[in-house]
Amino acid sequence: MKIVLIMPRGALYRHKTGVFKKAIRYAPLTLTTLAALVPSELNANIEIIDEGISDIPELITADLVGITAITGTALRAYAIADRLRAENIPVVLGGVHPTLMPDEAAKHADAIVTGFAEESWPQLLRDFKAGQMKKIYTQSPTLSMEKLVIPRRDLLKAKGYVSIDSVQATRGCINECDFCIVPIAWGRRMYLRPVQDVIDELSKIKSRYILFVDVSPIENVKYAKDLYRAMIPLNKIWVSPATIKMADDEELLGLASRSGCRGLLIGFESVSQQTLRNMGKGFNYSDKYKVQVKKLHDHGIAIQACLVFGFESDDKTVFAKTVDFVNELSLDLPRYTVYTPFPGTPIHNKLKGENRIIETNWSFYDAQHVVFRPAQMTPEELQEGHYWAWKQSYRYDSIFKRLSGAKCLLQYMLPANLAYRFYGNKLDTYSREKMTS
Ligand code: SF4
Repeated sequence: MKIVLIMPRGALYRHKTGVFKKAIRYAPLTLTTLAALVPSELNANIEIIDEGISDIPELITADLVGITAITGTALRAYAIADRLRAENIPVVLGGVHPTLMPDEAAKHADAIVTGFAEESWPQLLRDFKAGQMKKIYTQSPTLSMEKLVIPRRDLLKAKGYVSIDSVQATRGCINECDFCIVPIAWGRRMYLRPVQDVIDELSKIKSRYILFVDVSPIENVKYAKDLYRAMIPLNKIWVSPATIKMADDEELLGLASRSGCRGLLIGFESVSQQTLRNMGKGFNYSDKYKVQVKKLHDHGIAIQACLVFGFESDDKTVFAKTVDFVNELSLDLPRYTVYTPFPGTPIHNKLKGENRIIETNWSFYDAQHVVFRPAQMTPEELQEGHYWAWKQSYRYDSIFKRLSGAKCLLQYMLPANLAYRFYGNKLDTYSREKMTS
């Protein structure tokens, strides 16, 4: 049996025509995990296609194709699925968007997989082999995180990524920020892999550099401390997403640092406390950010800082205030996004109820495009301000000032800043036609 697994990419992130360079592209875990879950008795030949690093061939030969989609790639996924099904190749759709919009996705697939895939995907494949594939497979929320499969990294084209050594220790999040799909798609809870399982996987990875793709493993502090303590002897260097709470627990921060933490992706989201409270992220305190960032930098930890524009309380002054904040705190790698009402989120329901959603083409739901009418500016002002912030923060003088202030992980942060400079400067060159291609 031949199985082809495809990850389509949005226009900005696509091979050749996109603007997202290798220095900021890590290998996703979805396709490699799905490949590892294929039951061995099927003796399948498996091919992985990540559109971020290679084209999707005109001609695909397969017994079954699996396509994973997020909201921003849903229409692209549907177009590929429709094409393949017209050629009599059965297609399975899965991932975040089919989980959020199963009825929509089902129109373009022979079967869909919602939620995680650890038990449902192997079952689907066995049913397919027996000629009994059902229309929908849903992973039970009682999924055990013990003895998860080791992703098939050997199937990746390694040279397309800054790292293929992505690892996951936890899934899910206990928080409930109003724009976030994580609690909507997977429930407001955490799934924890046994620490020893994670250590076993890390021990088998030859590279010293590891990239955790959890959303925030430190939301369970005891688990995170146990994990970091156990990682110390491995002598790895690692980066991970985490909430800013990391800076407030001396023991946790010390263990993270001793186990090799050199970079964190942190959702600061806003410089306004009122805005943070309104979005459900009241555990971030904007007046503590400066001290927290200094603590992280003092531990040699670089910060990829996520900041969002377009909250209900944001007016036109938010862009300059945020750019100044990023410079003042020497945030190593700022990443700006636009508040986006992904389907199923509280903010989607609110804006839809107020008739303020102005764009329904999913291709624009990539968090870089305005798809709703903001409360205190026009959609155009929000879009232009967003582009302006990217360009300001990635001027050479800003890069120099921030990196010389932070002095962390420079061998990665310098090329990553240059890659984001390229990305930020090109965002406004994407026409509607290009975005929907
Ligand atoms: S803390 Fe992060 S992952 Fe958790 S709900 Fe908020 S934005 Fe989502």
